[in-house]
Amino acid sequence: MLPDILVLGGGISGLASALRLQQEGLRVTIVERNQTGRESSWAGGGILSPLLPWHYTEPVNQLCDASGRQYGEWLAALREDAETDPEFWPCGMRILPAADHTVTMPDQTACGSIHRIEQQNNTLLMPDIAQARNSRLIRTLREAVLKRGIQLIEGSGDVRLVADQNRITHAVSATEQYQAGHYLITAGAWSNQPASFAPTSRKIEPVRGQMLLFYQPGLLNEILFSAGTYLIPRRDGHILAGSTLEYVGFDKSTTATAFNQLLAQATSMLPALAGSPVIQHWSGLRPGSPDNIPTISRHPSIQNLSMNAGHFRYGVTMAPAAAELITDLLLGRQSSLDATAYQWISPPDTANSRT
Ligand SMILES: Cc1cc2nc3c(=O)[nH]c(=O)nc-3n(C[C@H](O)[C@H](O)[C@H](O)COP(=O)(O)OP(=O)(O)OC[C@H]3O[C@@H](n4cnc5c(N)ncnc54)[C@H](O)[C@@H]3O)c2cc1C
Repeated sequence: MLPDILVLGGGISGLASALRLQQEGLRVTIVERNQTGRESSWAGGGILSPLLPWHYTEPVNQLCDASGRQYGEWLAALREDAETDPEFWPCGMRILPAADHTVTMPDQTACGSIHRIEQQNNTLLMPDIAQARNSRLIRTLREAVLKRGIQLIEGSGDVRLVADQNRITHAVSATEQYQAGHYLITAGAWSNQPASFAPTSRKIEPVRGQMLLFYQPGLLNEILFSAGTYLIPRRDGHILAGSTLEYVGFDKSTTATAFNQLLAQATSMLPALAGSPVIQHWSGLRPGSPDNIPTISRHPSIQNLSMNAGHFRYGVTMAPAAAELITDLLLGRQSSLDATAYQWISPPDTANSRT
């Protein structure tokens, strides 16, 4: 029997969407060109909040807050069908002043955030901010997907969609054809590629982020943030330092410049890190979008095409709420979230082209 939904892309957006859709009784297949969760969803830091919520607009905070309210419970429910512990940890985040500056309390009414903020000496503490360990979170989701009977096709190579008039007829890779009732694009930074004939007016583009990894147990037990850089402790003593924001296309190489900058920032924020070796240096491509606002929407005219992509810096944070919203939209039911800002709007000159 044909699946009801074919999900294109097995990062956190695809896995979370598939799980939520299947919970509603839909038959779901995920097709991932490589390995599940090895792109941005693996590379990120796993902080479950916008870094400084008062820097973001309501559509970003709405999704992050809706996710934040359910994250712990969402993971606990997944753990019923998964062995891997995603290491959910409400460790809090402390904002340090940039050099020679004082930190000032933000106007909390402008925050639109569920998080408490306390001023402590010359720092701001957000004690409720939590984290999950990306690499493990992806494994948790993958295990739950398989346990719940969702079909997961990995290693397909690039899949693209074929349309006839206002319908997608099928999806193709170099060797296979896939058919379903509906097609959901969750391909992260590559989300404009499977249906290049149906672009979004809010461009999704890769934004490279580089990270460093240290190992020094007992040194840090809260996230530190200062002047764009964060340090994230893991429970086992690893510490991540990140991250760069680079518009370099689909180039995932790491650079000596970023290494040196991140190392200098990390050791100025936490001097006791000086002398700790960097044990890993990697990069990932975020699905960048204007103002960090994702596209979570049905296509305006192609009836059986939707997208849940472009979560930029906060796709791990937004995953449960974004999955719930796309499910509501596909089932045609009222959502508790205002979906207006996430709509798929076609640029005027492409509305009629289907190749
Ligand atoms: C350095 C860094 C730090 C970050 N820190 C955080 C953080 O602290 N908190 C947070 O919330 N977010 C963070 N993020 C952002 C977060 O990781 C992303 O927003 C999120 O992972 C996006 O998930 P995704 O599933 O949409 O995309 P991806 O994880 O990139 O997954 C997309 C998948 O689609 C597949 N695919 C692509 N094209 C095709 C195709 N044609 N056919 C089939 N499959 C295809 C890819 O192989 C990939 O597996 C960070 C990102 C980076 C890079």
